[in-house]
Amino acid sequence: MEDKRDGIFRIGPIRPPSEADSLLLQVTSGCTWNKCKFCSLYRGSKFRTYSVESIKADIDTMGKYRDRILNMNFPDGRFNHEAVWEDIKQLPFEEQNCYYMIYNWLRNGGENVFLQDGNTIVLRPERLAEVLRYLRKVFPGIKRITSYGRAESLSRVSIEEFQELRAAGLDRIHSGYETGSDVVLDLINKGTTQEQQIRAGRNIKAAGIELSLYFMPGVGGKKYSRENALETAKVINAVDPDFVRIRTAVIKQGTDLWEMYKNGGLDIAGEDEKLAEIRLMIENTEGVHSYLASDHIINLLQNLEGHLDTDKLKLLGEIDKYFALKERDKKIYQLARRNGMVTGIKDLKKIPAGNMRQLESIVNDITSNEEWDIAMNNLMDRYI
Ligand code: SF4
Repeated sequence: MEDKRDGIFRIGPIRPPSEADSLLLQVTSGCTWNKCKFCSLYRGSKFRTYSVESIKADIDTMGKYRDRILNMNFPDGRFNHEAVWEDIKQLPFEEQNCYYMIYNWLRNGGENVFLQDGNTIVLRPERLAEVLRYLRKVFPGIKRITSYGRAESLSRVSIEEFQELRAAGLDRIHSGYETGSDVVLDLINKGTTQEQQIRAGRNIKAAGIELSLYFMPGVGGKKYSRENALETAKVINAVDPDFVRIRTAVIKQGTDLWEMYKNGGLDIAGEDEKLAEIRLMIENTEGVHSYLASDHIINLLQNLEGHLDTDKLKLLGEIDKYFALKERDKKIYQLARRNGMVTGIKDLKKIPAGNMRQLESIVNDITSNEEWDIAMNNLMDRYI
């Protein structure tokens, strides 16, 4: 029995940062795998799918809120924010939440939808296609619909099935490949292989769906840093994804990877090593036009953006600006970044003198490099 109430639709917990303005439609909940050693996102919760009827009911509820909001618009089409606020205030809290999501989405253009949760693509293609068609029927103005998918699940979907999803309105798939190395995939228990990643990626692209891959520098520790970079570049070269998004590894306390580190089975890579890994990956990409995005606060250089072919030299140059800093300045930058003060090297000059003195004092206090790497890892733990 699916627990449904009038005026409420399901909202899952996670979406990629690039989907910040998207409407969230929950078609599954949790993750089918739930065993990656660095991830505790859905631990303790069971994966489940929802019936097409129940998802359609959520879409209908969303449509009703949309109509209710637009009906209050001024004659010239502007939102009547005051009337909307008055309307929201009289509703129970859970309904307010749903209402506000639609209102916020419409104010941001009402263009994109993200299908939650961690591995929606596992739904049978005909079921997912029915959801997509219904969503586009109720919201004909939607420009982009995207979803997460695990590489292993994606590798089981044929080009024809992806084409069916494309025709029904799926525009982009996000997938956390993390690494292209079979050794590292095994180490982190990702439950997929390089061969599956490549097959999945090529099929998605062949069907005309955009592919957004996530790369996790540092996830193999110091030992597999080079392997991680080179094998990931190999996968990118084989697939030519539309996007490669960097998600720097954080060894989070409470995960299996943290236990591995505590038991001596993993050496945590430092910030310089992780950035060198990104550099090596970029350097080894060839013949691909993928757009590299560093769109997460967890990354050391947030302004590392560009195409892997036409902007390659610019990307490498940005990284080299960091490596040209003195050792002490690198640590100050790392600390400033991990405290949200900077997004790129140029911001170092903008740090107020008082803050700079505090940063310098912390850098002076931590003299061991190993201790420093752990301290930075633990600071990053706050962000995810
Ligand atoms: S597939 Fe994604 S959501 Fe599932 S356990 Fe791995 S990282 Fe977490």
